[in-house]
Amino acid sequence: METCTFSPCSRGAGLDPESLSAAALEDEIHTLSASITVATWRLLMLIAELDRRGAWQQWGVISCAHWLNWKCGIDLGAAREKVRVARALENLPLVNDALARGELSYSKARAITRVATPESQDYLLMIARHGTASHVEKLVRAYRHVERLQESARARSAHAQRALRWNFEDDGSMVITVRLPAEQGALVVQAIHAAVDAQWRERDGADREQELADNVSAEASAASSPSSNSFDNAESPVSARRADALCHVAEQFLTHEAVTSRQAERYQVVVHVDRAVLSEHGHGDCCHIEHGGAIAAETARRLVCDASVVTLEESGDGEPLNIGRRSRTIPPAIRRALAHRDKGCRFPGCMNHLYVDAHHIRHWADGGETRLDNLVLACRHHHGLLHEGGFTVARRDDGKLLFFRPDGELLPEVPKPPLRMLEIEAIVAESGVDVSAEPSRSLWDGSRMDLDMAVGGLMTLNGWR
Ligand SMILES: [Zn+2]
Ligand SMILES: [Zn+2]
Repeated sequence: METCTFSPCSRGAGLDPESLSAAALEDEIHTLSASITVATWRLLMLIAELDRRGAWQQWGVISCAHWLNWKCGIDLGAAREKVRVARALENLPLVNDALARGELSYSKARAITRVATPESQDYLLMIARHGTASHVEKLVRAYRHVERLQESARARSAHAQRALRWNFEDDGSMVITVRLPAEQGALVVQAIHAAVDAQWRERDGADREQELADNVSAEASAASSPSSNSFDNAESPVSARRADALCHVAEQFLTHEAVTSRQAERYQVVVHVDRAVLSEHGHGDCCHIEHGGAIAAETARRLVCDASVVTLEESGDGEPLNIGRRSRTIPPAIRRALAHRDKGCRFPGCMNHLYVDAHHIRHWADGGETRLDNLVLACRHHHGLLHEGGFTVARRDDGKLLFFRPDGELLPEVPKPPLRMLEIEAIVAESGVDVSAEPSRSLWDGSRMDLDMAVGGLMTLNGWR
């Protein structure tokens, strides 16, 4: 049997698809498809390992999925799904084995891993084996719908206990705990979704827009029956994205809503910082947020890199002598020119252009000037990496920006192509799976699925009453 390789231009004329008989065509598609399933399992194992090690972080990308997008050209939505499935398989040994043996297609595995628990994986595998991929999708959708209704009911019972509290942890971070009635919680969540969406539209481009819209409406309404959910697309920390979004909601409120400029004075986040700490090699523990916890010197440097600054002179004993004029560190004209020149975050591989800060290549506290050639736009994530993360940026005399990892290695503007191509046949041979034996053939006998019964069974196994 002939199997396909990924080098059509080097193939003999005899393998031209046009020259194949219908039977040979079917056979090759079938075999190659099974081979790809086996190779996909290998791919997922490798992705899981890369993710576990966090090896993608060395390139400053936002997540493992972004690494796949940047390095391998995989659409970001598909990349997120791969990372999510790869992670889920770690806790679902039976599903993992079935995929490894080529008995379960990737489509089915993707659907199953959205709802499977160690207790219900066997049951879902049984349905997957005896049904088609669309049966599995349908079951997962129906289950998620019922699950969501149950969750809403539970949330409503929290009405009497609604509360918001915050406290500071030993590491200086603030923990905010909120308990809300479902409908009020939904309002807050919607605002966070909207902020997340705005950020992701910026980051991923318009192609993700529809997917996000689908997911928001799915999350918003328990009565809808979503087919997929962005918050299951186990992007690296979903919770971190929501936290960022909450900060944006607060920022937007303070910028635009209900706060007059006179009131705004009261609502500023004030950072107390010692000038000595701001200098590049300065030390000290004098940075803290007013009415809040201590912050690292590098965090203080990032906050004042692009912020409004009030000059404050203090006497030797710390008493303020003179409070000077407040000024943006970056005048509006320079900021406009910077936005025009950089368009968005300049970090290699980043597409964000909405929430960007102006970063001083040489910090103004170290004598760096607020001039176009000393400034570069960076999104919040990458601005953080340029301060707290140890990444650096330099500008060559010809104006080209160079970004470096903390270990000093230069970040490539575009990722390098792979060093070699793997033979898909070799991967299949190594797996020991006989793809010609149709391991993934569905045992579906053509009968209709009893959806109510299937959902009921899954609810019980997943711990719902
Ligand atoms: Zn900066
Ligand atoms: Zn960026």
